[in-house]
Amino acid sequence: MKAPFSMDNLEHLARCPLCNKKYHFSQALVLDQEDNKATFHLSCDSCRTSTLVFVSAGNLGLMSVGMVTDLEKEEAANLFKNEAISADQVLEVHEYMKNFKGSAKDLI
Ligand SMILES: [Zn+2]
Repeated sequence: MKAPFSMDNLEHLARCPLCNKKYHFSQALVLDQEDNKATFHLSCDSCRTSTLVFVSAGNLGLMSVGMVTDLEKEEAANLFKNEAISADQVLEVHEYMKNFKGSAKDLI
């Protein structure tokens, strides 16, 4: 089944979490794609930060969550191939981070 979103409308959603520059999804690597959700690996043109972007399409429209990663494209692809990470786990981490009350230092 084809995902209900295209690279075109994703361009407006995702920005680099560090420098806020828009991502070019033409360079995105699709790591995982299901009916209404997908996970991409993106690298920022401007600051070279790599991000895992999780996108899902629901009743309220498209939602995207970005997570900074130090994984290179190939490493991320291997992880997803081995199913070490799934889109659901990305979302779980996001939920955890949303409820996390400490500072970034506490996570390290
Ligand atoms: Zn950037």
